[in-house]
Amino acid sequence: MENRTYTADAEPGDEVTVAGWVHEIRDLGGIAFLILRDTEGRIQVKFEKDEMDDELVETGLDASRESVISVTGLVKEEPRAPTGVEVVPESVEVISEADTELPLDPSGKVEAELSTRLDNRTLDLRREEGQAIFEIRAEVLRAVREAFREANATEINTPKIVATGTEGGTELFPITYFGEEAFMNQSPQLFKQLTAGSNLERVFEIGPIFRAEEHNTPRHLNEATSIDFEGAFCDHTDAMDVCEQVVSAAYEAVAENCTEQLEALDLAADFEAPETPFPRLSYEEAIERINATGELDEQLVWGDDLPTEGEKALGDDVGGHYFITDWPAEVKPFYIMDHDDGELSTGFDMMHPRMELVSGGQREHRRDHLIEGFEQQGLEPEAFEYYTKMFQYGMPPHAGWGLGAERLIMTMLDLGNIREAVLFPRDRQRLSP
Ligand code: ATP
Ligand code: MN
Repeated sequence: MENRTYTADAEPGDEVTVAGWVHEIRDLGGIAFLILRDTEGRIQVKFEKDEMDDELVETGLDASRESVISVTGLVKEEPRAPTGVEVVPESVEVISEADTELPLDPSGKVEAELSTRLDNRTLDLRREEGQAIFEIRAEVLRAVREAFREANATEINTPKIVATGTEGGTELFPITYFGEEAFMNQSPQLFKQLTAGSNLERVFEIGPIFRAEEHNTPRHLNEATSIDFEGAFCDHTDAMDVCEQVVSAAYEAVAENCTEQLEALDLAADFEAPETPFPRLSYEEAIERINATGELDEQLVWGDDLPTEGEKALGDDVGGHYFITDWPAEVKPFYIMDHDDGELSTGFDMMHPRMELVSGGQREHRRDHLIEGFEQQGLEPEAFEYYTKMFQYGMPPHAGWGLGAERLIMTMLDLGNIREAVLFPRDRQRLSP
């Protein structure tokens, strides 16, 4: 828009055109105030009824809340105005009128149900908090990309329509691909391994993953964004190093560049980047510590998967991000390399006190072990030939991990529901918008 001034840039003495939404109108009789809101903030527009053109006053004060308007006028200092300045209008144009009945209140004074908010996301994101979450999300992804580049990784994009899943199973969404069954990819795992085996060596991807999760939970989506890393000539400890660098870089960037957004979310006071390195607990230590908290009805024994309440108890005990390493081999997928004795896996999880954020490990790069794994899993190795074949032509040892972007943001911003961190979430009940 030509000659537009953002509200935050309007200085006393300027002749400006500001454009945005009608946030509020306060009519005090002889004088009335219209608060105009744009992406940068808000500004007061003052209407003095006796001194101004009737038509101008009427246009301004008849505008319904959330209508899009533009106002041209002179900026004056006004200590009583919310931002210390106000616009004295010379002309007002209603660009797009809003219905007087709004499905939710973007000023946030009246709280709406999450489902109502998600049905009306455009209106919902006019609230400061919503805007702040997605500006922080963008900063997180920017910082993550930068951290990967510093770690010498190349950004890749792998297919989301695939012939086979990573592990097969019930979490796949089937689709029809020119008359044949195909699936939405649940993880870029196999493709990033195939790429790490090329001369690219270190790769990362930020892209969607699709999972037909059985349950609706506050931390599962059916379409999520995965931040993935894979590095050739890396073992699981190298992969963990990159993981904590990337996560702490994201926090540091937000602490540094998103002060206003953190304030809008009421987090500015005690927002801190986690200290690196993150503690690395073995699975054995983890179950011992969980058992010692006494939070579980039944003591965990070697080989158990960690139940959600166990993860929470341990998270409270540790009090920050941490890794769980050295899992029993049978708990981790077959394509993850075991330690020499075969009893323990190089697989690891990176945890926030509230939940799992990352799973990773060194991969099995020995073709015969891999094929054996497929067979034991009841998967047909032939279906994965496109993948296993490349292990015949020189596959270096490699390691990597996947980090859920929405979980990173959800835990960083202490959001109660993962859906708050996605513009248009997909879950069992929601396919639109
Ligand atoms: P969980 O046990 O918490 O369901 P998972 O172990 O099945 O997760 P992985 O296959 O290890 O998930 O995927 C790696 C990461 O991707 C997870 O740690 C998580 O951050 C993210 N992730 C996986 N599934 C989802 C999902 N349905 N919604 C949002 N994020 C997910
Ligand atoms: Mn996992």
